[in-house]
Amino acid sequence: MDSIPVDETVRNYVDGEWRAPGGDDHQEVLNPATNERVGTVPFSSAAALDETVAAAHAAFQEWRSTAVEQRIQPLFRLKSLLEENQESLAETLVTEHGKTKREAMGEIRRGIENVEVACGAPTMMQAGHLPHAAPDIDETAVRQPLGPVVAVTPFNFPAMIPLWFLPYAVATGNTFILKPSERDPFTAVRIAELVEEAGFPDGVVNVVHGGVDSVNHLITHDDVEAVSFVGSTPVAQHVYETAAGAGKRVQAQGGAKNHIVVSATADVDYAVEKTLSSAFANAGQRCLANPVAVVEDDVYDEFADGLVAAAEEMTVGAGLDDGTEMGPLISGPHRESVLEYIETGVEEGGTLLLDGRERDVPAEGNYLGPTLFGDVDPDDTVARDEIFGPVLALVRADDFDDAVATVNRSRFGNAASLFTSDGGEARQFRLDVSAGNLGVNVGTAAPMAFFHFGGRDDSFFGDLHAQGDDAIRFYTDETVYIERWPDSDA
Ligand code: NAD
Repeated sequence: MDSIPVDETVRNYVDGEWRAPGGDDHQEVLNPATNERVGTVPFSSAAALDETVAAAHAAFQEWRSTAVEQRIQPLFRLKSLLEENQESLAETLVTEHGKTKREAMGEIRRGIENVEVACGAPTMMQAGHLPHAAPDIDETAVRQPLGPVVAVTPFNFPAMIPLWFLPYAVATGNTFILKPSERDPFTAVRIAELVEEAGFPDGVVNVVHGGVDSVNHLITHDDVEAVSFVGSTPVAQHVYETAAGAGKRVQAQGGAKNHIVVSATADVDYAVEKTLSSAFANAGQRCLANPVAVVEDDVYDEFADGLVAAAEEMTVGAGLDDGTEMGPLISGPHRESVLEYIETGVEEGGTLLLDGRERDVPAEGNYLGPTLFGDVDPDDTVARDEIFGPVLALVRADDFDDAVATVNRSRFGNAASLFTSDGGEARQFRLDVSAGNLGVNVGTAAPMAFFHFGGRDDSFFGDLHAQGDDAIRFYTDETVYIERWPDSDA
């Protein structure tokens, strides 16, 4: 497999073939570390998208009745291929996304985990059977695939997030169409190359490129049965409403603004170490990042001093360079938007404890150093809006109850973490905090693939989440058989 694209033009992978997307629009893909061109992503024409759905629809007829044991065989091969090619896939990912190679390797590992879990479909797809459900009646629930399903994914985890959906969709007997982010599409192309090598039947897995128009075309297409989406909240809400309005089953994961609570009982050094990576890994471009730390007054100064000292030491640079701890932001315009938020934070009276704009960074890329605001009011913009950059706001809390109340004022509900040595606080946090993924003494509350990926409030639209058992249920419909055999002696 090629690792780093050199002025390459991406193609769609449809019905087992590589095809030109055929649309009029295109976008340049730039290396965030240098802003040099990596390649071009042409957008798909409506006709190309229709052909893709038609291919997925045709392939569904046979794939749905292929034995589940056979359906998972190409997934086992895909797992091995992802592992064998993990390093070169990581290099592609870093080149178009900017994160460090270590982070890229970690994200691919998280994606592989989902392939592994989906290989459990023969067990996970089983539903229920109850003899004597009523006099002389037995009832059986069976899970059946839906048909062609679509996933639309964001730029920040270009390997892992497509793999939140692909393995479960096809293991359960659906056919799958991925529309990856147009900002870093080469990782999805490389994964599609491995899909081709793994030997899925033609049309079972397809990848198409495009932007807003392609998404809207796919999610309202008559022959698409379900839509999985991950991205920003306004788009998640739009996709949820539009696709549901067109009669599709939808799961739409949106943006986030997660909080860490540091209790007065916490091991402060440990909390500093974990908060640092939670706020600044992936340059803060993570839906599970914790860009707000709510710290009890008793330990606030110690925590803030420790964090500033540790953040000052972070090495900011190109993701492929050894020793880099934080890479650049995805694009120049995104960096500008983060800079505007820092300006707003200053205008609203926040105290800049560490100003990432002053960091000595390579000139060409979209770099920004870690930035820390102290004594932020929970209603300030930097504590409320999703900035999606390396900006951490510290909020002072009078006590533990005050900290929990601050967390629950957020309109988002993706994740929250608590640092404590008090079991009672941990229990209260678990019961009272409104977020879908909760960590205790864990900086980034990222569930393993065999648990669903939570999310609520403005961070999630739908019922069944990605990963684990929820994914199996999202991609299947339960039919109930009710049987009576009047002549039976049973
Ligand atoms: P985005 O919303 O800009 O784009 C996501 C996808 O939607 C892309 O494939 C894009 O082509 C498409 N899209 C963009 N605008 C659209 C529109 N108006 N209509 C239809 N489709 C559209 O998101 P992004 O900037 O790529 O990713 C970052 C966002 O994703 C952040 O908000 C982050 O929190 C969120 N995210 C959430 C999770 C989660 O699990 N909740 C995980 C990762 C990222």
